[in-house]
Amino acid sequence: MPFVAVPVERPGGGRVEDKRPPEPEDIVVIDGFERPVPLHRLAAEAWAALTIAARADGHAAPLLLPVSGYRSVEEQAWLWDGALAKYGDPEIACLWVARPGTSAHQSGRAVDCHLGDPIESEYVDAMRQTPAWHWLVAHADAFGFYPYDQEPWHWEYNPPWK
Ligand SMILES: [Zn+2]
Repeated sequence: MPFVAVPVERPGGGRVEDKRPPEPEDIVVIDGFERPVPLHRLAAEAWAALTIAARADGHAAPLLLPVSGYRSVEEQAWLWDGALAKYGDPEIACLWVARPGTSAHQSGRAVDCHLGDPIESEYVDAMRQTPAWHWLVAHADAFGFYPYDQEPWHWEYNPPWK
């Protein structure tokens, strides 16, 4: 049976629009890259199906293990402060870390996944060379995941309403 992604918002398709946090009972914790990662349960189910398909196509662990998923407003604020320190200019920082209140990670439906290198802007070009990233570009939407063009590691669960 092909995987059927369950939509969350209307109309869906593309990046997450509804950034509200999930209900606590909708958050599950799954095995990630070097640490457990909390996600919206529907995103977790879809990422699990995506990973099974990728493994069958030869993309072995730890590739595609989640590095980051659901984040609280407080965690996003902490990351934002770090990005401001790294990039200096908020207009540059916001290309790499969403301002608090605006991140799809706060919905629990964004996954930053392992593509072989640290999740840092310096590695974007290298990640876009990887077979695992090319596989995501070709197949992620079948599991309800859509890309953020700036960050090859970042995928958002937002299947279209049918
Ligand atoms: Zn992300």
